[in-house]
Formats: sequence, structure tokens, C-alpha cells
Amino acid sequence: MSDNSVNNYSRATFDQVMVPNYNPSAIIPERGEGSKIWDQDGKDYIDFAGGIAVTALGHNHPAMMQALKDQAGKIWHLSNVFTNKPALQLADKLTQATFADKVFFCNSGGEANEAAFKLVRKYANDHYPDQGKSEIIAFKQSFHGRTLFTVCVGGQPKYTKGFEPLPQGITHAEFNNIESLKALISDKTCAVVMEPVQGEGGIIPADPEFVKSVRELCDQHNALLVFDEVQTGVGRTGYLYAYQGLGVTPDILTTAKAMGGGFPIGAMLTTDKIAKSMGVGTHGSTYGGNPLACAVSSAVIDEINTPEMLNSVKEKGEKIRTRLEQIGQKYGVFESVRGEGLLIGAVCNEKWQGKAREFLVAGWEQGVMCLVAGLNVVRFAPALNITDEEINQGLERFEKAVAAIS
Ligand SMILES: *Cc1c(COP(=O)(O)O)cnc(C)c1O
Repeated sequence: MSDNSVNNYSRATFDQVMVPNYNPSAIIPERGEGSKIWDQDGKDYIDFAGGIAVTALGHNHPAMMQALKDQAGKIWHLSNVFTNKPALQLADKLTQATFADKVFFCNSGGEANEAAFKLVRKYANDHYPDQGKSEIIAFKQSFHGRTLFTVCVGGQPKYTKGFEPLPQGITHAEFNNIESLKALISDKTCAVVMEPVQGEGGIIPADPEFVKSVRELCDQHNALLVFDEVQTGVGRTGYLYAYQGLGVTPDILTTAKAMGGGFPIGAMLTTDKIAKSMGVGTHGSTYGGNPLACAVSSAVIDEINTPEMLNSVKEKGEKIRTRLEQIGQKYGVFESVRGEGLLIGAVCNEKWQGKAREFLVAGWEQGVMCLVAGLNVVRFAPALNITDEEINQGLERFEKAVAAIS
């Protein structure tokens, strides 16, 4: 049991004091260890949600704790009037580990994408002036953040509704349909934006052939290719970044979520040539490159970017998928299970259309936390270092939850 002052707060307090844009569970988690979470009543849960693909090393990881403590005793914040060692070190690691030569730091995925979308317009202006090369093509069902620009690039009209007038010059092609992109792309296109696996849209992996053709079309039209790896990045798919498993290199990559393992940070990665369009004064962020965030993120990258960790992600992903397929068949609830590495979606069958959230709620009852991705997909995005024991226990609890509602 926790102390009284904490227990005086409940889900009802949320309705009193918070803007009603979320509808959180009545459970109020208090403490975590690895892939286990305890709520304020002491009940435990296996965490297959990972704070929406964020806590990639689970809760209370010693390397992250140490990095945070060490940096907390040195300096917390400077602003970009000064640079700092943790930021330089992290940028050095990211550029060594990827195609990128240059890094821009910010605090979230939406901000990383905002920077990327501003940069593609600016780059086109710098290199192809007065040619109206300003159109951005993204994909239907995609998700790129919640700022006004990023909801417009995102392919889910429900997120722009009511916020008009909207930024212009954005169109949406069908994901995994190259003819649809061909019909839209032209020399007026400054960039094509895609997620290697659509996350919020329902855990839909891009077909490798499709990705190669997207790259070719971009090259034909001098359009930049932006990979939004906010959800797929930092080991989630069994590669440090998903592009590394696809054999296609983007021009700009955005990363956040797991990058800080739970500490807010995001980044946009790009090449020397493209980075030149973001000269002094063109863009910025007060917190971007914050020493605490960068120190923690460095520890996260060190832990995750090893062949052992990345291979284990593929193996664990396979194991969870197989079990979910069995559960889906046994209880007649899922038509398929898809995804890459530890980003997994169990797709509701005909009978369970629109009811993914029921599995989530039933899971809480049994002591397991999952996610949804849209109305029809139950999503699993556990810590990459989740143990076999935690996986087994979590899946047993999930099966009980499925049994209880089916
Ligand atoms: C979560 C997500 C974002 C938005 O990130 P925030 O940190 O919430 O701003 C953008 N793109 C993708 C693919 C995401 O999954």
C-alpha cells in the first residue's frame, strides 16, 4: 500500500483537473521493475505496452538510472546558446550507427517530424527556387504526430477535423500501393513521408518491394524520402532502425519514443547536404539537446545497439507472434498476427470488428497491459529486454483475458 496522499487521487480527480483529451484507465500505476508494473493498490501487471513503444529497456533499468543520476549531479540544462558533452556524444553515436551525418535534437516524435517537414520544404526552396516544389506526399492511415502540420501530413482525417484552416500542399497515397503513389508524385513533390511499419494505423509493415519503388520514384522526381521511425526505431523491429532491414536508405529519418527509454527526447537525422538547408536561425528548440535527456538516451543506444539485443528482439517477437496466433485460433478472435520484431498487431476477425479495446480492458483485469492500434488491432510493444518468464506470464494472463470475454 502506498501513502494516503497518493491514494486520495483517483481516476475521478483526472476528470476534475485535466483537459478531457484522454480517457485513461482507472488503474494508476505507481512503480515498475523490468517489464512488471505495480499500481497504487499493489496489484501487478506484465507490461506488453511499454508506454506505447517507449520503455524499450523496461522500468528502472540500471544503466539508465546511472546515466540519469550521474548527469543530474553535473548540469541539467543550458539551452542551445551552448552545446554540451552528452548531446555531442549522442549525436556522434547516432551518426556512426546510421546513414546520417547530422542530427537535430528535440523532445518528441511530433517535433522531430515538424523539423523534417519544414526542412523538406526549405531544401526544395533552396535547390529548386520558384518551381513550386512544395508538395508533400504521405500515406493513408499514417500517423506523424499531433502538431497542426504533422496531423495534416498524417493520413487520419479524424485528427484534423475541426482544426481548419489547415496547412496546404499535402496529399495521401495508398500504403503498399505503388500505382497510387505514381499517380500523385511529380516534380512539384518535395518529399514522400512514410513509416516502415505503420504503427497507430494498425501495425502494417511496408512491403520491401514497395519501399524500393518508393525510393526510385523519389529519385526520379528529386523528392526527399523521409522515414518516420518514431515507433519503429531504436531496436523495435530487430534492427537499430527499420530501414537497415529494408535495404533502402531514406534522406531524413525521425526518431523519438524508445530513444529516451522513457525520458522525453526526439531527433531528426539527415545528410550533410540536406542539413545545410537548416542554417543558423532557421529552426530551434529550447530543450533540444538537453543534457539529461541526451545522457539517458546515450545509455539506451549503448544497451540496444548490440547484435545480441537486436537478435533477441527478432526471436522474442517470433515467440509472441506464434503464441498469439494459437490463442487467436483457439478462441476464434484474431484473423492474423502481423508486425516486425517486438511491434506486433493481433488483428480482430469479422466477429470482433471494432472491439480491440475489449481485449485491452480484459487484460487489465488479468494483470497484463497491451495496447490497441485503431479499432481492430490489439498491439504489443513490450520492452526489448523483456525476459522469457515475463513473456510467458504475460501471455498466460492475456489468454485468460481472451477466454474471459470470448
Ligand atoms: C508516436 C508517433 C509520433 C508522435 O510522437 P510524439 O512523441 O507523441 O509527438 C509520430 N510518428 C509516429 C510513427 C509515432 O508512432
